[in-house]
Amino acid sequence: MNLKPLIACCLFLCSAVLHAQQSKAELPEGILRLQKAYPDFIDKVDHKSITLKDGTVFAYDDGKKDKTFEQLLDEPDLEDQFRFPYPAKFSVKGPKKGEDPGRIRFMPLFHKMYGSTQAEVRSKLKEIVWLPKTLNVKIQVSAVNGVADKLEAISKELDEKPEFRPYLENPGGTFVWRVIAGTKRMSMHSFGMTIDINVKQSHYWQWDCKCINEDAKLGYKNLIPQRIVEIFEKHGFIWGGKWYHYDTMHFEYRPELL
Ligand SMILES: [Zn+2]
Repeated sequence: MNLKPLIACCLFLCSAVLHAQQSKAELPEGILRLQKAYPDFIDKVDHKSITLKDGTVFAYDDGKKDKTFEQLLDEPDLEDQFRFPYPAKFSVKGPKKGEDPGRIRFMPLFHKMYGSTQAEVRSKLKEIVWLPKTLNVKIQVSAVNGVADKLEAISKELDEKPEFRPYLENPGGTFVWRVIAGTKRMSMHSFGMTIDINVKQSHYWQWDCKCINEDAKLGYKNLIPQRIVEIFEKHGFIWGGKWYHYDTMHFEYRPELL
């Protein structure tokens, strides 16, 4: 029996598999994270871009290095979203100056997923009940990416812990189509994939420094228990309390960072 064709065939298949594994391993981690986080929208990825199911191609890296912090906020690419790793652990001292994991957002992707106009975002909202047993407050959140279902699961879990109630009652809001005060940037609340918990138990850097200057020296403050944060993070939400420019009421659906 002539084994040569069989061996040649095996070698070919092995090298094809190895090559496929190698090229996947070489993809930037951020691209792999995006692909895993948003399977409903991302059709395919390569080393330089992501392609959405509607055919839109977004470059991963715009090639611009040395952006200032303001430029990272105002004109980021997808790669910049991963500039600051989101920490698994919490430090009572707060993050280092300028470390804002999650505050850098490539807005065209979020507009594509959640809606590019107020009416479009609104058409994708779903009403859920926030802490049905203890608070029973109706809130509107996006059904896109399963956000409403995930927030409902978080709400059920938090509902079992009466000691958390002071932090969760009178939620500060979910969907509001608006720009961030003092900037031209859209607030992530415009997409209905964020929630502010009780404002009265929270701290926001602009209220404390009475300024909007990103360079301001800030003193970190927080009252929100970490067990609440952990429940949100488990379901794909990041917390604004892990930003140097802290916003401890703010939770935002950003599974690519977790
Ligand atoms: Zn917020």
